[in-house]
Amino acid sequence: MECSEESRCRELAKASTFYRAVYSEIEEVGWENLVRFGGDLTSLSFRVLDSKGRVHVMEIQLDKTHPTYPPSISADVPYLFNLKWSSNSRLKDVVQQFRKHLEKLQTFWSTLDDIDRSLCVVEPKQASPAVSNRQVIIGNDCFVMLSIKATDPRSLPECRFIGTGQIVNLLRDRWQRNSKRWVKDKKFLVNLETLLETQLPKPADVEKNDQQVECGICYAPSLPVDDELRGKSGTGTDYTCDNTSCKRAFHSICLVDWLRSITTTRQSFDVLFGSCPYCSEPVAVKINSVKK
Ligand SMILES: [Zn+2]
Ligand SMILES: [Zn+2]
Repeated sequence: MECSEESRCRELAKASTFYRAVYSEIEEVGWENLVRFGGDLTSLSFRVLDSKGRVHVMEIQLDKTHPTYPPSISADVPYLFNLKWSSNSRLKDVVQQFRKHLEKLQTFWSTLDDIDRSLCVVEPKQASPAVSNRQVIIGNDCFVMLSIKATDPRSLPECRFIGTGQIVNLLRDRWQRNSKRWVKDKKFLVNLETLLETQLPKPADVEKNDQQVECGICYAPSLPVDDELRGKSGTGTDYTCDNTSCKRAFHSICLVDWLRSITTTRQSFDVLFGSCPYCSEPVAVKINSVKK
């Protein structure tokens, strides 16, 4: 019947406009970043790299009325952002907002990296970037389950102690009594040991090498071999805390990264002034011309 044919045509025309629009929007994001898509192009997954080189995948569900109604998004992150959308918005705007969101989460991920490298983590073995929990060995068959706040990762985490009665009670008491001693500008490990009034076991595979001193931030003696680090590629620690009772060694670029993530750090010309992540004594480090 004529009438139904007409409506079918209209449907197809509508569909083809939709396809045309989506194709050109994918092109703007870059086909090389498209990981997969659903047959009718309403679901698209894009690969997005953050500033630290971590790879993230964002799934976008397009509304059939696209771009009239905003798409819905999902990704392996601890929390999502509110998409700003207008009828002129395009897929590249979604990717851009996602990228911005990833930058907000950098301190969260670096805090978790810090925990994974400096403490004996039993769970999860292979954490997804969305997971904010870590179960850490305290010793004497006790564990602490830490939940890092994604919106404020350096703050006092929520924790739950696991183990036998008496020791767990003792630890819980110390945690409550000392919780005010948590200092955002200090390394996670230092804070945890201060609150628990105990030394925590370190990962067994981090064996100390007498010749080389490991960096107090990345825990590696040498920086990775990487063209982007230019002259610093593969080099050892080149900065030591002046405080004689601390004397922690760092890679200056790690220290610069650390100080930049702390709000109290001040900069004068090309020197950053802040405090040592271990002893809180003042440190001053020159910003390298090396690209991060
Ligand atoms: Zn380092
Ligand atoms: Zn120090």
